[in-house]
Amino acid sequence: MGVNPKKADESVAKSVSRTAIVQSVCEITPNMRRIVFGGPELADFPAGKEGGYIKLIFPDLPRANPKRPVMRTYSIRAHDKAAGQIVVDFALHNDTGGIAIEWALQAKPGDEMLISGPGTIKMVPPDADWYLIAADMTGLPAALCNLERVPDGAKGHVVFEIASEADQLDLALPQGMDLQWVVNPHPDRSKTQLFDAIKAAEWHGGVPFVWSACEFDTMRSLRSYYRTERAVPKQNLYLSSYWCAGRTEDQHKIDKNKDAKADAPSLKSLISKLLHRAGL
Ligand SMILES: Cc1cc2nc3c(=O)[nH]c(=O)nc-3n(C[C@H](O)[C@H](O)[C@H](O)COP(=O)(O)OP(=O)(O)OC[C@H]3O[C@@H](n4cnc5c(N)ncnc54)[C@H](O)[C@@H]3O)c2cc1C
Repeated sequence: MGVNPKKADESVAKSVSRTAIVQSVCEITPNMRRIVFGGPELADFPAGKEGGYIKLIFPDLPRANPKRPVMRTYSIRAHDKAAGQIVVDFALHNDTGGIAIEWALQAKPGDEMLISGPGTIKMVPPDADWYLIAADMTGLPAALCNLERVPDGAKGHVVFEIASEADQLDLALPQGMDLQWVVNPHPDRSKTQLFDAIKAAEWHGGVPFVWSACEFDTMRSLRSYYRTERAVPKQNLYLSSYWCAGRTEDQHKIDKNKDAKADAPSLKSLISKLLHRAGL
């Protein structure tokens, strides 16, 4: 389900590192800062990776893992291949600290950042019976890339958690899709709002494609809801935790790996499932 963090890191590690140069910085809403990166090394950045991710690399910081520099993961919100520019939107969480957000808050045109990627994630297909797209502010940039891929005649729900009313964006959605903004000024302390709103949304007939990216504990609640209560097939689900309250990204990665291991079905349960299906 979603990105296997180990595999994702491996694929990004194999990809090229580039020096990106800050072109412009602006606030698109009070709690979302947009940085446009460019420079000669982005000229051959692969096209069509919007919604995928890059790693911001901080090579000079003390490393928890001596084999790897400190990195932070961000989504490619947009890519202008002709101009050689990529757009990254940073959800501001300056009250909780963090090296990426500290960097983003001080970034100015001309600053350099080493990036690697792109890494890819599962995107919505064009032919689902209906769609459920949900995210908090960290997942919003990638969720919006997915929303742009949904066909005009699509139906379904979009649920976005934002830090304040003023973080709402003016979005053009297919007529059959409704949009709910859920305001949560303290996503690091209060983790139920997005889940409650998703649970309250009508569940249509047919098989949906569900795309969700959010905080770790919310991801775990949603995983149980999507799988157990709604039986969403694995291939129709992208669900990923993009951060974990009280944990740095490096610590979150460890939590994610542990969780993925604990969640993987044991060989014994797989065999019993297969025997059950075969009527044995
Ligand atoms: C595939 C993927 C794509 C992502 N795309 C984006 C993106 O496009 N935009 C974006 O903003 N984020 C995105 N994230 C999330 C981002 O990587 C994390 O929020 C990251 O922890 C930020 O790094 P930092 O150095 O600022 O904070 P860290 O050093 O990692 O953490 C420091 C403290 O800040 C807290 N913290 C981290 N993020 C938040 C938050 N959003 N709100 C409240 N507290 C927080 C942590 O819990 C910790 O206590 C993505 C993550 C993944 C895995």
